[in-house]
Amino acid sequence: MTDSDTTVATLRDRAVVFRDERDWMQFHLPKDLALAVTVEAGELGELFLWKLPDEVTNGLASPEFRTRLADEMADVLIFLLYLAEATGVDLSEAVDAKIRKNGAKYPVERSRGSAAKYTELG
Ligand SMILES: [Mg+2]
Repeated sequence: MTDSDTTVATLRDRAVVFRDERDWMQFHLPKDLALAVTVEAGELGELFLWKLPDEVTNGLASPEFRTRLADEMADVLIFLLYLAEATGVDLSEAVDAKIRKNGAKYPVERSRGSAAKYTELG
């Protein structure tokens, strides 16, 4: 399964089956799912913490590092899918809406090639 043939709904449904087979929904309170997203995001960040640019480049060329990176990225998304399911948020719609909002905050003509926050754009 690849990005091109997988939808957010498909991933959510697979994660829900995994959860329900283990009777873990009882533990999936929105508060805990939100915390789990941050914990997993921390584990993702830890892969890069205190590494110099060359060390990151070398890591990205290493199959072992790439596996750990993919695992942590997947963990973040899995808990986000659970949080979306638990709160009734349509993630596809939310992402689409947020990209539109960001487009309004960062018009191409004012933000192209700039890393400035929208409040600082000229
Ligand atoms: Mg993890």
